[in-house]
Amino acid sequence: MSDSDSDSDSGSRPDLDFVQPWFLGPAAENDRLLEDLVVEFLRDHAYWRRNFHPEDGLRISAGARHAPAFLDVQARMRAELHRLSASLKRAVPFFHPRYVGHMTGDLLIPGLVAKLITTLYNPNNVSEEAAPVTLEWELQVGEQLARMFGFAVDDDAEPCAWGHLTSGGTVANYEALWNFRSVRFYGLALQAGAREVGFDPGPVGPAQKELSAYTAWELLNLSIDDTIALRRDVARHLRAHHPPPLFHAFAAAVRAERIESLGTAGFFLKHDLAPPRVLVSSSAHYSWAKGMKVLGLGTAHLVRVAVDDHMRMAVSHLRDELDRAEEGRIPVLAVVGMLGTTEFGTVDPIHAIADERDERRGRGVELGLHVDAAWGGYLTSVFRRPDGSFHGQDEVAEGFRHFPSDTVYRAFQALPRVDSVTIDPHKLGYVPYPAGAFVARNREVVDFITQEAAYVFDLGDETTPRPRRETLHNLGQYILEGSKPGAAAAAVHVTHRVLPLDSQGLGRLLKLTVRACEIFYDSVADIQARLEGRVRLCVPFEPDSNLICLAVNPWDNASAAAMNRFARAVFAHMKVEGHRPVQVKTFIGSYTSLLKSTLPGDQAHRILGGLRLDPDTFRLIPQDPAREADHLFILRHTLMNPWLLAGPDERSYIDHYWDWLEDVVDDVLAGGEWRQG
Ligand SMILES: *Cc1c(COP(=O)(O)O)cnc(C)c1O
Repeated sequence: MSDSDSDSDSGSRPDLDFVQPWFLGPAAENDRLLEDLVVEFLRDHAYWRRNFHPEDGLRISAGARHAPAFLDVQARMRAELHRLSASLKRAVPFFHPRYVGHMTGDLLIPGLVAKLITTLYNPNNVSEEAAPVTLEWELQVGEQLARMFGFAVDDDAEPCAWGHLTSGGTVANYEALWNFRSVRFYGLALQAGAREVGFDPGPVGPAQKELSAYTAWELLNLSIDDTIALRRDVARHLRAHHPPPLFHAFAAAVRAERIESLGTAGFFLKHDLAPPRVLVSSSAHYSWAKGMKVLGLGTAHLVRVAVDDHMRMAVSHLRDELDRAEEGRIPVLAVVGMLGTTEFGTVDPIHAIADERDERRGRGVELGLHVDAAWGGYLTSVFRRPDGSFHGQDEVAEGFRHFPSDTVYRAFQALPRVDSVTIDPHKLGYVPYPAGAFVARNREVVDFITQEAAYVFDLGDETTPRPRRETLHNLGQYILEGSKPGAAAAAVHVTHRVLPLDSQGLGRLLKLTVRACEIFYDSVADIQARLEGRVRLCVPFEPDSNLICLAVNPWDNASAAAMNRFARAVFAHMKVEGHRPVQVKTFIGSYTSLLKSTLPGDQAHRILGGLRLDPDTFRLIPQDPAREADHLFILRHTLMNPWLLAGPDERSYIDHYWDWLEDVVDDVLAGGEWRQG
């Protein structure tokens, strides 16, 4: 959002009618619709069971249901379920426009019903044998997502993309690292294996030279596509010129040399390599640090690239870090761009990162490029026409005041250039947990992952990609997880069918959420005027999507610690507390912190200035147990409910939020506890 003039136009309500059938609704308005659907398909399921072998008759007799033991169990089931149902009344009301906290909203009815119904069948998407229907649907979901990002998915396309579901963005991110590690260190293993069995395939790979003539640095800097091509070249030579026993000896030697066999430490010791780096923006999700631990890559090698004044990865800093790695001959396993940060909803300049990748590729230095779009991935639908083409920026901008900024537009447009993407259907796809997804631009990466690597050289005809169905029906071989819910695949699939991933489908809903964020943002100046003399407000980063943060500081306060105490006290009013009924809350929000340790100095200066905080009070104090001065506590609002734009009366929920915040601010100011450290 670039221009920030503040005349709010929340008076002209966008048309919300079209979303009315999509959700159960804030007041369960569509309960009859949901009930009808559930009952209809529950019955359908019962008939299916009955007709499996109707000649077998009944195993549970009508009479048995009157036996005391039966009635006893039934009573206990009912009692426990009542207890559950009663306890769940303390659950978080994600479905309501008064909930503006974390990245969860109401569930779309098609996905919800698909999930409930499919659970009755309980398919396990680990393999086709356990999920004849939903595994295929999961692969189709992968294609739908890939197509939305702009990857090619036709079976004869090269490269051809693929994707699958995970439990969430966290596991999808691990998988991205796993895939990169598997492919990027393959070349070295191939060369070592060839040396071991005394085999040289002749001219191969992008440089068309002897395998043994490649330097380690060259092999480490092959792109995914080049590594795939290299392996194919080698297989072709093997088959043309050598007898089958050599295939097996060679395949076994390569397998033994791979990082998967030697272990990360063993592989790097053997080849005398510096540990590879992974670069993320300093606002990346914490799953990246976890992933570095899980894969044994080490968090010391996760480089946090500084952000710019929009909380986006600063390309100049990225360049510096890449130069440093290049000078030290340290391989960069991946650069991760964020398409919607978890804390701020900001979008990294994916196009500029891809340009950087292309430029370095030109001089023989490769970076894997992954996009963590767990949050923002579905916003791509806003940019896609139903025919699959990409909307012009002006078309996307229709109905918005700021969105999409140039950076945001170009970042989404650049998605087809990246190697892989993480996206969370259980966030902006509005489907039940668990549903994340990993999408790769080149499906042949799975050949480097599979547990059965030998066939890569054994089979007769692997020089051309095999059809997807044949490759992927044993999904468990290619992914981190094993048994997994086919019901999740059904939920996402049915949702995508009912609400296609374009600007006329799901995009229509997501536009409302971005619009809500704009209206919120544009009203801050008015609210600031209203609260003059009481508090200062500051939106630390202009929103790129539908998430917005707000810092609140008492008017005359100059101390960061005191502001934090004040903001925490404000937040206490919008916080879910396990021991109190949620109904006492007027609005529910979330919070985040700007850390002194990662906030660039010029950003800190700007934000502290806006809040009139004394920079000397914002500092790292190693001995301070309260740690009140090393961060700024700010309110965080995830605006994913379309009915934020409507309201209980002629004023919208956003207007009501401001009224409420004003009351809370007055309350906390009057209490005065925040003054005492
Ligand atoms: C939510 C999120 C994740 C983690 O996803 P889970 O589904 O919670 O595992 C990763 N990255 C980003 C940017 C996220 O917003």
